[in-house]
Amino acid sequence: MKVTKFGGSSVANAEQIRKVGSIIKDDPERKIIVVSAPGKRDKDDVKVTDLLIQLAESVLNKEDYTANLQAVLIRFSEITEELEISSSFLSDLEQTIQRIITDDISDRSKMDTLKSIGEDSSAKIISMHLKKLGLDATYLNPKDAGIIVSNEPGQAQILDESYSELYKLREKEDVMVIPGFFGYTKDGDLMTFPRGGSDITGSIVAAGVKADLYENFTDVDSVYSVNPTIVKNPKEITTLTYKEMRELSYAGFSVFHDEALIPAFQHQIPVSIKNTNNPYAPGTLIVAEKRHHEKCVIGIAGDTGFSSLFVSKYLMNREIGFGRKLLQILEDESISFEHAPSGIDDMSVIIRDFNFSYEKEKVVLKRVQEELKPDNIKMHRNLAMVMIVGEGLMSTVGIAKKAATALTTANVNIEMINQGSSDVSMMFGIQSDDLEKAIQSLYEVFFNEE
Ligand code: ASP
Repeated sequence: MKVTKFGGSSVANAEQIRKVGSIIKDDPERKIIVVSAPGKRDKDDVKVTDLLIQLAESVLNKEDYTANLQAVLIRFSEITEELEISSSFLSDLEQTIQRIITDDISDRSKMDTLKSIGEDSSAKIISMHLKKLGLDATYLNPKDAGIIVSNEPGQAQILDESYSELYKLREKEDVMVIPGFFGYTKDGDLMTFPRGGSDITGSIVAAGVKADLYENFTDVDSVYSVNPTIVKNPKEITTLTYKEMRELSYAGFSVFHDEALIPAFQHQIPVSIKNTNNPYAPGTLIVAEKRHHEKCVIGIAGDTGFSSLFVSKYLMNREIGFGRKLLQILEDESISFEHAPSGIDDMSVIIRDFNFSYEKEKVVLKRVQEELKPDNIKMHRNLAMVMIVGEGLMSTVGIAKKAATALTTANVNIEMINQGSSDVSMMFGIQSDDLEKAIQSLYEVFFNEE
């Protein structure tokens, strides 16, 4: 049994939905389908989820929301008319939205419920389309599917009891179409996952039903070894491990939502990334273990928006509790840290900028100064992290040298190196402005010269 998820671009219009229909029909093992809301039809388009957020915002700000509501309805009417789906679908949709708008529920619930409409309608439309194609298909609401989540609007987390509920879906005969992106609390309140969260639903459902494969259809043929907007025609990755994918998506690969891999990873479900526009291309397979490492470095990624807090103190290594106290200050200020490379007398803590406002920086620096009495304390803003990733990295001689040479050739100064704590990646902190040329030079060395 396969769980097959289609992303926003795969359901963006009627033409795409027709492709989805034939992909599902093509393989009887595609029993459970998870769908996103219609995404962008072209680069300047707006995703339905964003239209719904605009609608919710105008409702909550007590502004005139007519135009925003129309924008949502027009997107769906274009799809349903072309697919010849009964017009009662649209009037029901409008009524549902109006009811949510006038319902006496909290602002947060209103926002989440409106946000979920994109996925929900998409699933209903696709199930109707599949029926027209002669399949026994049913729309399945996440509540009926057993997707039980924590009470955190916009940031819901799956609860463990969902998995045994989901397992029961194996008994059903029909093709089931489940909307992605949201679930229900134990009290029955609708909550959405973080943005991009339909991938999370897909992965949860695949784990719950113990699928043989979780297929994730997007609009690219495969995961590439590097961002194709930075390096032209980069090599495709045929197989990669969960760990490699996690590291790559952490450092800016956006093919897959990084949280989404967790359920598949924990339940050892292989994940296949495929292209709705080219479904017979082999795609990329994500697995727990690779038998042989065809290549040592399989990908290079990078992301901006990091800061580093550097603290040094003579004999730091002998001062019991130094690291804990430093991290405690961050915890007190609700700052999560990314990683903390350290030496015998110094420690850097890497933080995402969005987590570390200038006000928080002031408080943190003052407290570190007073409570830890370091010899030196420095803040670096505007950092980028570039990462080379591959399972074979640790067992191959000379990787660090090669990477450092590539960065030197590109005239990029290395502010920080982090290797050792992860056995599948090596990370370099550099100035944000240098990111593109660093990635290009690393790609040249690890992919073109080999
Ligand atoms: N529609 C939601 C979003 O745009 C979730 C998804 O597409 O995965 O974030």
